Amino acid sequence: MMKKLLVCLTCVAFLLSCANTTSDNQADRDQPLNVLYIMADDLAYQAISAYGSEISQLAPTPNIDRIANQGARMDAVYCTNSICGPSRSAILTGKFSHVNGFYKNVNGGDFDGDQQTFPKIFQENGYETAVIGKWHLGTTPTGFDYSKVLVNWGGQGTYYKPEFCINGVDTVTDYKRHSTKVIEDDCIDWLESRDEEKPFMLLYQFKAPHRDWRPDSMYHDLFTDFDFPLPENFNDDYKGRIAAGENMMEIENHLNRRDMKQLPPEGLKTRKDSMRWYAYGDKGQFWTPNDTLQGEDLKYWKYQTYIKDYLRCVAGVDRAIGSVLDYLDDNGLSENTVVVYTSDQGFYLGEHGWFDKRWMYEESFKMPFVIKYPGLIDAGSVSNEMIMNVDFAPTLLDFAGLPIPDEMQGQSFKDVLTDDNKTGRDAVYYHYYEYPLWHKVQPHYGVRTDQYKLIHFYYSMDEWELYDLKNDPDEMNNIYSEAPAELITSLKLQLDSIKKEYHDDFSMDQMKLMTDTVISRVYNEPHKQKL
Ligand code: CA
Repeated sequence: MMKKLLVCLTCVAFLLSCANTTSDNQADRDQPLNVLYIMADDLAYQAISAYGSEISQLAPTPNIDRIANQGARMDAVYCTNSICGPSRSAILTGKFSHVNGFYKNVNGGDFDGDQQTFPKIFQENGYETAVIGKWHLGTTPTGFDYSKVLVNWGGQGTYYKPEFCINGVDTVTDYKRHSTKVIEDDCIDWLESRDEEKPFMLLYQFKAPHRDWRPDSMYHDLFTDFDFPLPENFNDDYKGRIAAGENMMEIENHLNRRDMKQLPPEGLKTRKDSMRWYAYGDKGQFWTPNDTLQGEDLKYWKYQTYIKDYLRCVAGVDRAIGSVLDYLDDNGLSENTVVVYTSDQGFYLGEHGWFDKRWMYEESFKMPFVIKYPGLIDAGSVSNEMIMNVDFAPTLLDFAGLPIPDEMQGQSFKDVLTDDNKTGRDAVYYHYYEYPLWHKVQPHYGVRTDQYKLIHFYYSMDEWELYDLKNDPDEMNNIYSEAPAELITSLKLQLDSIKKEYHDDFSMDQMKLMTDTVISRVYNEPHKQKL
């Protein structure tokens, strides 16, 4: 009898040990992965302390850095069209702008929500899906069990009194909280109330730090006791770069009174008068807050006003990211959730004397991208492999083990993150269409390799630019006219090959027509309801 009991106890111990092994393995292999995709608007990599720039060390982002420290920082992630709506469309569809159809913000219509997107595939495969915050694609989000997105100002949203549309039906206005705070609170609420039987895929997307850079009042006192250093090429004269010389996005000449938080004089009679007063400066009109502030001093004051408000907005985004990371930690979700932080494109923080984006130059072409997944991505890793925003959709699907449709033009870079022997792209491709609004940036396309960048500005000029990124990382010296012919020939062949591969080999006339074509926005304004 005793012997039999001992045998049984041994069996139980064996079974228990099997159960433990199975459970551990399941955590690694079978338990569905959650996805938290966080995206800010216009948040430059130079403003993230994990990326190490001088200004970011004075205005650190400890929570975005948490993601990088617990996972990977990617240093060569590029968008194919550096502007809000088009980048978001490329991310959702895994397709380039001319294929997904949303290639301009101005006169570019609305996003076609009937096409395939990665959130739809997550939803079809049993995930609970949501998008909260900035959407900016006009049409109601598709592929989500829940959506609450900014709708006022044509979908841009506002920092204060933001209006959100819920599930494409009701619009609510928040009169008390800053937009970043509303989006943060909504995200936590959604996580709290989700169906815990299902894995989740959440897009958590901020308006901040988009122009006109209005931080939450709790950050108004940040950075009041010091000034930020100027970028080395702050006083760029655009020599050898004709397209850049025609820009209208200079800190010195194109920031308006609204950007600089000026208050209008009394006596402006109509809203139109007031709007005109605030927008003064957009077209290069001279103004100064007081007559004693002129020349270099005025430019310096504009930069400090701009960069401080921008970084105060970033501080709010960083706090809101920290809250949700804490939520994942506190609820045992961190081990089984892929967390991505990125921005829809990069931005100029005074480099070349600019604010805004759009150019294929590094600061706006390059996106910040940090990602963590404790099971697979080594903590603290850094990657210089080149990838693109069209690669995000296939990569997230790949992490979750879901099918990647053939029609997606991007490719998964999961292996690049999890295997040191895997490499990214040999070259990345760019094409920008919108002209002349805003900021008079010539339509252009180009290719970037590990060392070189070749750009063709083609709309009302026919200008090529070539940069040696190893020796001229700030892209100040266009060497197109002096570079060896073989180098130019080889880069042009590579560019032609990429254009063909992605079916973007249209004629010059067809491309110019895309810029000229006015596609009106339908933009279904939802029913309004005050809360
Ligand atoms: Ca943007």
